[in-house]
Amino acid sequence: MNVLLLCAALATAAAAAAAPAGAAAPAAGPTLKALFKEPRQTEDAGREQVAAFARTYSDKAGWEARARNIRACLLKEAHLDPLPARCDLKPIIRGRQERRGYSVENAAFESLPGFFVTGNLYRPADGQAKKPMAAVLCPHGHAKDGRLKAYTQTRCAGLARMGAIVFAYDMIGFGESTQLAHNDPNVLTLQTWDSIRAVDFLLSLPEVDPKRIGCTGESGGGTQTFLLGAADDRVAVLVPCVQVSAHFFGGCQCESGLAIHKSAAHDTSNVEFAALAAPRPQLLISDGKDWTKNTPGVEFPYIWNVYRLYGAQDKVENAHFADEGHDYGPMKRLAMYKFMARYLHLNLKAVVADSGAVDESDAAIEPPDSLRVFTAEHPRPPHALPDSAAVDAALKKAQAEAGRK
Ligand SMILES: [Zn+2]
Repeated sequence: MNVLLLCAALATAAAAAAAPAGAAAPAAGPTLKALFKEPRQTEDAGREQVAAFARTYSDKAGWEARARNIRACLLKEAHLDPLPARCDLKPIIRGRQERRGYSVENAAFESLPGFFVTGNLYRPADGQAKKPMAAVLCPHGHAKDGRLKAYTQTRCAGLARMGAIVFAYDMIGFGESTQLAHNDPNVLTLQTWDSIRAVDFLLSLPEVDPKRIGCTGESGGGTQTFLLGAADDRVAVLVPCVQVSAHFFGGCQCESGLAIHKSAAHDTSNVEFAALAAPRPQLLISDGKDWTKNTPGVEFPYIWNVYRLYGAQDKVENAHFADEGHDYGPMKRLAMYKFMARYLHLNLKAVVADSGAVDESDAAIEPPDSLRVFTAEHPRPPHALPDSAAVDAALKKAQAEAGRK
């Protein structure tokens, strides 16, 4: 099945599932055809485009001037200029389940007053990690209940057993994030804002070392990873998985539904959004069966060259799995664990057997319902914003408030 169609179908299904019964449907965003830029170009066009980008600068100062403009245009076109005022997070953390080497809790916070980010907080078991601890954000791709899938739980448990505090959080319109549908006009804006606020949430935990924050997600979660890295330099280590591509921009409303790649003032691609992380450590995970199949020869050399301008070419790597497909499977997780262990100072032995093979057998897979933060017993608080219009008004109010400061 065409993967773009699959993504669109998943988004539509999630949007339908997310629409509250009896509520007016939120205003639909632009259709794919109406996007400012087609989400896909030919592989040759993608290759030629990054070559053209590379001709616009020849040294670090030249790249930094280009990078400043890309970052400013990204924030402007993502409708995040100014960033909204940061409200009280009002964190909710409950339902702790103790497992071998880690625990998992159900957690939520408000990224705007009355707008909830829902997720799970995985922590190393007492005595398993020295304080302060590293922390890792784990966004997920376009999969129903993606944060509750076994592969996401396994990755989060693995990182927690290695010594990191981990927060896995729902994409907007997926899982428990049902205040907006995924095709809401504000989805790119608020999904990126949710990630920025997720960094705030981690930093609100007293055990977290502010210098050791990582982020890794697959597919649409890879998009969230590099957009967060571009927008927020508090993220010290990035591992975008199966998404950084010169010829494919994501195609979903949350990835290319706004003109973040091209405007009158800029022309860029996801390759450069990833490059904006330089010189922070970054691992690109790619595979042979999707739009990252050319990464070793196209995307990685471009990004490596940006790191080279900082003398930091040893801090960017590509783990390419030519025989694998579009997922975040065990071999890709092993590559991520090794990279995170090196740069966040984690205990790799917690997830690797003596043979060198990945060993995630201590990760428990919880029934999804036990990982939900809002339940019949603990419903979403009554001040939760009821619909798309109320969320849009809260966003505009928070931006007006930020603009006055
Ligand atoms: Zn999306």
